[in-house]
Amino acid sequence: FHCAHKEPCMAATNSTATDWARRDARVVQHPHGDAADPDRLVLVRGKGSTLWDVEGREYIDAHAGAWLTQVGHGREELAKVAAEQMSALAHFTIMNDFANPPTIEFCEKLVERAPKNIAKVRLMGSGSEADDEALQLVRLFHYRRGQPQRTKILVLRGSYHGRTYGGAELAGGRPGIGEVPDGAIMLTPPWPYHAELFGGENLTDFCVRELEQAIARVGAENIAAMFGELVMGPAGMIPAPDDYWPRMVEVLRSHGILFVADEVVTAFGRAGAWYTSLDYHLAPDIIVLAKGIASGYVPLGALLLDGDVADVLDGASGGGSYAGHLMASAVASANIDIIERENLLEASRLRGAQFLEELRELLNLPVVGDVRGRGLMVGVELVSDKTTRQPLLDRFPNLKKDIDRFVRTRHGVILGIHGGTIALTPPLVITPREVSRVVDAVGDTLARVNIHTGRID
Ligand code: PLP
Repeated sequence: FHCAHKEPCMAATNSTATDWARRDARVVQHPHGDAADPDRLVLVRGKGSTLWDVEGREYIDAHAGAWLTQVGHGREELAKVAAEQMSALAHFTIMNDFANPPTIEFCEKLVERAPKNIAKVRLMGSGSEADDEALQLVRLFHYRRGQPQRTKILVLRGSYHGRTYGGAELAGGRPGIGEVPDGAIMLTPPWPYHAELFGGENLTDFCVRELEQAIARVGAENIAAMFGELVMGPAGMIPAPDDYWPRMVEVLRSHGILFVADEVVTAFGRAGAWYTSLDYHLAPDIIVLAKGIASGYVPLGALLLDGDVADVLDGASGGGSYAGHLMASAVASANIDIIERENLLEASRLRGAQFLEELRELLNLPVVGDVRGRGLMVGVELVSDKTTRQPLLDRFPNLKKDIDRFVRTRHGVILGIHGGTIALTPPLVITPREVSRVVDAVGDTLARVNIHTGRID
């Protein structure tokens, strides 16, 4: 067995994709996947924005493995850093009075690039863990300040803050898991394409008024925080209008309600800046990080804490066995260096703008309702009717998989589809030529969708 690129392949094996798919079906349970999927894509190698499957087929990666491989695949530099750090000292806890240089240096880099109010970092293992920790910390903050009744949380309907029990609370519950502890207060998402949500009113005016009404109804003295994705990712790559977050946060501030910016997706250049909070001139009390923080080379999450919030929370438990993992910190630190050295924040903005310009041509197609994005969080919203903006995939649920497979097998492009929207979130190193190839693949596929039958002709 040899990969098509002719280099020695770490996963060289005589097994075919079908063999692997059969073995996979026996022992691996896939989140959001069918139990036995004969089309399972078995990946073995990557370089930049290119992926290869076990049979040597080549793909353009417009997905980045859950939107996170900022620096691209196959970075030997990161492998070397990992090997060196693991040989020297892989891990020792930072609980109590233990510390280590890679973690200190990494946290310095995170804080140096953050909004000025950010002073401290708490290290976590994933975005979900970090969101869950933030949910506990905002309550602890008010408890320690003598307001233990401030427990309620404001969130945007349709937002995602992880898969823990706390994440389920923020999502307003999840079918089959029973009652969630408190239940969040849901607000209308800032989704410009769906003007019907705002009853003809200016989006931001509507949302600010709704927020003020919710606070008046529940009582500011009972509300701990608002959690917000600065660009809603899983709901369909939805950037808010520029004045939305500044005005919302101003209202929260005036009521002593903390603001938690979930930048699990948006940070580290994904939406074009180190932190999207900087673009909106926000000073969040907590910023939640994961994904691009280490480009997926190690699983990692973190919380950035405002100085005053950090002081109140000083000494609070949490963090777990792996907080301050030396090897993870060293790799994540080198990941930041690569993003900086190769100017990947600018690359994200430029390639994102190219995507939007080229994708706008697709607005002529009957199934394309909206094209939007910020940096390399790009969305193509699919509708069955442009006047009512009804989601196409609600009408034809099987089409999601069909689009995915057609783009993959016919065009060699891997992408994601979330909440009725095609999500294009490639590594930030994607080239202009590759961007055009992805757009052509999406365009050809969507042009073939029969809006009456939901089939790809
Ligand atoms: N927050 C947001 C906005 C996310 O999109 C995700 C994951 O997609 C998470 C939190 C959870 O992160 P993780 O998958 O690392 O647990």
